[in-house]
Amino acid sequence: MPLVIVGGGVAGGAAAVLLARAGRHVMLLEREQAPKPKVCGEFLSCAAHDYLIALGLDPATLGAMPISRLRLAAGSREVSTNLPFTGWSLPRDILDEALLQRAAALGADIRRGTIVRSLQDGARPQLIVDGLGEIEADTVFLATGKHDLRGVARPISATHNLIGFKGYFHLPNSAAHTLAGHIELAMFGGGYAGLQLVDANRANLSLLVTQSRFAAAGQDWFRLLDEICAENALLRSRLSDALPETDRPLAIFRLPFGFRHRPDGSEHVFRLGDQMACMPSFAGDGMSIALHSAVAATDAYLADVDADAYHERMRRDLAGQFTWSRVLSHIIATQAGRRLLMEVAALPAVMPALARRTRLSRLAQVIR
Ligand SMILES: Cc1cc2nc3c(=O)[nH]c(=O)nc-3n(C[C@H](O)[C@H](O)[C@H](O)COP(=O)(O)OP(=O)(O)OC[C@H]3O[C@@H](n4cnc5c(N)ncnc54)[C@H](O)[C@@H]3O)c2cc1C
Repeated sequence: MPLVIVGGGVAGGAAAVLLARAGRHVMLLEREQAPKPKVCGEFLSCAAHDYLIALGLDPATLGAMPISRLRLAAGSREVSTNLPFTGWSLPRDILDEALLQRAAALGADIRRGTIVRSLQDGARPQLIVDGLGEIEADTVFLATGKHDLRGVARPISATHNLIGFKGYFHLPNSAAHTLAGHIELAMFGGGYAGLQLVDANRANLSLLVTQSRFAAAGQDWFRLLDEICAENALLRSRLSDALPETDRPLAIFRLPFGFRHRPDGSEHVFRLGDQMACMPSFAGDGMSIALHSAVAATDAYLADVDADAYHERMRRDLAGQFTWSRVLSHIIATQAGRRLLMEVAALPAVMPALARRTRLSRLAQVIR
């Protein structure tokens, strides 16, 4: 089997579409049997939207809701501003499944419910796969997102102390009306939350908190929410009469934010999405990066460019965006920084400029 994609999220699904569209026989291995919600704010920024259109998927047709304003909140203050582009809100189970279905329609061999146990890099990468045994591939596209694979795991980073949570809430009409068309970012000690509608009254609440803040709340999700609502007036007003869809949120631990893969001599294993680079989620651009990496990696593969040259190119493409996101993450980690950000955010040009700086600036051509 010459071409294998491991992972059927945004990055893996997009790579499968592109390779199948180029006439290549490609097999995608995804461990989940069926589409599932994921820890993600589900904000599609402009680059992600444009890449999806180029892949033949229109987010609006899939039911995405447009977002044109940002509301930023800390303590009892809030500032709202226009985004310098239109973003979209679309649940991940819908988006990821649409990509896999498109890839299958173009001829990709999509194997759901198939767990890859390990990957050995080399002239002929070797995979160990449940139900399929040992597979030798010409080339592997590694797209397992936040999850590391034995043999090609990412190094432990200094920022591994963060937990990501996500839950859906049903809002009363008045709160849903105020939230409509907005992405709201609410900052608090030890983290921040993103809130946006995914349909008329259903909102995605995604949270990033330090392990110590979660531990201080007794590792209790609802107590954590009560405590951060007491600290942030905007969250308090949105969630006071909201109904959680589930008793527990989805959670993901030890997020490797700030990771950017360094070329390491690999020729035949192309890293995509979060396996290539994992940007702090405050900017909400991880899916753009995942799609960009899928386009750049498949372009490189089809042009006979090796994996390391592609990894080097990705590092360059993402450098500016990473620097700005890292600076912002440091600023909002302290109370003084959050106060400062709220002061400057009130100036008309600041938030649109920051929104632009934390975005992917260079898009690849998708011309096939
Ligand atoms: C709290 C939080 C909020 C975020 N909010 C946003 C946002 O609003 N907007 C945005 O653009 N980005 C956001 N992100 C980032 C975004 O979710 C990721 O960057 C994006 O999902 C990366 O896509 P991916 O395809 O690399 O990985 P994923 O989407 O995680 O896909 C990986 C796939 O690989 C599969 N897999 C894993 N291991 C194996 C295995 N061993 N064998 C087979 N299959 C396997 C998984 O089941 C999964 O389907 C957020 C992240 C967090 C943590």
